[in-house]
Amino acid sequence: MTRTVVLGVLVAVGALSIGLAAMPELTLTAGQQPPSAPRVIDIVKLKDNLYVLTSSTPGNPATFSGGNVAVFITDGGVTLVDTKLAGWGQAVLDKVKSVTTKPVTTIINTHTHGDHTGNDGFFGATVEIVAHENTKTNMEKMDAFKGDNSKFLPAKTYKDKMSLGSGKDKIDLYYFGAGHTSGDTFVVFPALRVLHTGDMFAWKDAPLCDRNNGGSCVAFPRTLQKVIATIKDVDTVIPGHSPMQTPKDLQEYQRFTADLLSHATNEMKAGKSVDDAVASFKVDQYPGYKNERVKGAVQAVYDELKK
Ligand SMILES: [Zn+2]
Repeated sequence: MTRTVVLGVLVAVGALSIGLAAMPELTLTAGQQPPSAPRVIDIVKLKDNLYVLTSSTPGNPATFSGGNVAVFITDGGVTLVDTKLAGWGQAVLDKVKSVTTKPVTTIINTHTHGDHTGNDGFFGATVEIVAHENTKTNMEKMDAFKGDNSKFLPAKTYKDKMSLGSGKDKIDLYYFGAGHTSGDTFVVFPALRVLHTGDMFAWKDAPLCDRNNGGSCVAFPRTLQKVIATIKDVDTVIPGHSPMQTPKDLQEYQRFTADLLSHATNEMKAGKSVDDAVASFKVDQYPGYKNERVKGAVQAVYDELKK
């Protein structure tokens, strides 16, 4: 399947998935992964006790395993940030076992989507699952967490900020408001100066604002501005779906989302169509950025401002 066709399917699936908790990037891949295809996940070492499970870029159903997973090895066990797509649990566990003999004891879900929560159940009810309170509410709407599987819902939630562990094992969780969904957590490993953004910085393209789960492209730049103003002591940024970034990249992404919002707002006020607003948005002022998702974000801004 060519990339163009895949993207076409993504858009089509996305258009049909209103009301579903699943998002296009995972709906597509979960359904199309041939059962016999080897499930290989790449691993990147950031620190002696912190790794990232990648193979996280949507587009190729054979290799897309879900979002970037942080593997944080503490004295008490392994904490995973996100768990990729359903069906990839054994591949995740195999990679974790390749770098530590410690058991997985904690899962932090950055947000509700199935390409970040798909193997919460695989790791079992004995693992402590942590998420923002709005993400737990969003997860309750997903088929994967209904009935007997409700035991895999987050047992620990928070509202604004929460810390897990202490000293070199400390993890800080922050919530700054709506964006990709209504419950996006920013995870900081302070001793290592590393931040995991989840899909609040998924890729260098317009954000996906999942309005069915409380996401907002209008709030997005404001929420990222709070992140930048608050989380300062960081050198490395783990994005949701692309290679490792820096705080400078995150600042640029905030400016990109703010520019996109003000452009869409002005075009709408001037009576321009969504297509016109997309055509006149200059993505080339941001080196390395794509415009594959600009239309979706502009549409989200129009829909939000119309209300
Ligand atoms: Zn997502």
